[in-house]
Amino acid sequence: LKSIAVMTSGGDSPGMNACARAVVRTALYEGVEVWGINNGYHGLLDEDMFKMERKDVGDIIQRGGTFLGTARCKRWEKPEGRMQGYKNLVDRGIQGLVVIGGDGSLRGASLLSKETGIPIVGLPGTIDNDVWGSDYTIGCDTAANTIIDAINKLRDTASAHRRCIVLEVMGHRCGWLAMTAGIAGGAEYILVPEEEYDLDAICADMAKAYKAGKRYILVVVAEGAGSGQEIGKYIAEHTNIDTRVSVLGHIQRGGSPTVIDRVKASQLGEQAALAIISGLSDIVFGFNKGHVVSINLHDAVNNKKTLDPEYAHLARVLF
Ligand code: ATP
Repeated sequence: LKSIAVMTSGGDSPGMNACARAVVRTALYEGVEVWGINNGYHGLLDEDMFKMERKDVGDIIQRGGTFLGTARCKRWEKPEGRMQGYKNLVDRGIQGLVVIGGDGSLRGASLLSKETGIPIVGLPGTIDNDVWGSDYTIGCDTAANTIIDAINKLRDTASAHRRCIVLEVMGHRCGWLAMTAGIAGGAEYILVPEEEYDLDAICADMAKAYKAGKRYILVVVAEGAGSGQEIGKYIAEHTNIDTRVSVLGHIQRGGSPTVIDRVKASQLGEQAALAIISGLSDIVFGFNKGHVVSINLHDAVNNKKTLDPEYAHLARVLF
């Protein structure tokens, strides 16, 4: 192809900038025209896009968020919306699209490709690490590090007061963030949507541990596994343990990306640009055991990722 476009869509994640930068610079290196689309599918429908130069992606690799802006766009969920988006691309001579976003954004991309045949390459950009076929999504490492930073601080105050702290973290319907940050932060209990849990058994367990002299307990709850507030209230009512709840919220989305997120996002961006330039379509690039892999776009959006059972086992052993 001779002209491509790149956008970020859905929830932002640290490393999206590094990724878009790699797409742009790889395309320019290959002598291909590249457009940036502002604010995801919104910008595509509102014709908010511009031809990019090398310097347009300067000074952004270290920044969280996305310099292109991102959005959720209802109009894109209708076939007429997607057809308008396709027309806006064709009008500018844009022959292929790279979409950096979460599973919803990739679903929108999959439909555009099916309906119009325009070449599309997707890249998993979300802190949730919930894209099927890849064991990594752009931003998940920074978010996990943000969570363990919070856990370290919460441990100090929990220990000082002999409290139980319930920390609710993001992850949508996926427990990866809670599980990895929980393991890294040494949480006593990690509640994830992929695993059933028995709150009464946990309360009984906690009460026993307190009686035996335990100073504090940390419970990490994935947002998809329940409400931190409700779980905290339940623990407070069913044990004599002074319990506090912390909902980490959007702090998890921000921050300067870690080395891992910058490098992996750059690798994925490069591969996506090379693939789309050579005319490949309907693929998502991700990682599998440290290596870049390509995944069928439609498979990626039609399958649900499962949590590595080794994590849950490890969490139980280390508790
Ligand atoms: P994150 O998981 O990090 O929040 P995401 O990409 O999954 O990111 P969504 O809000 O699910 O975020 O999706 C972003 C946009 O993608 C939506 O606003 C919509 O424009 C488009 N999209 C999502 N699902 C669909 C769908 N089923 N059909 C068409 N477009 C969709």
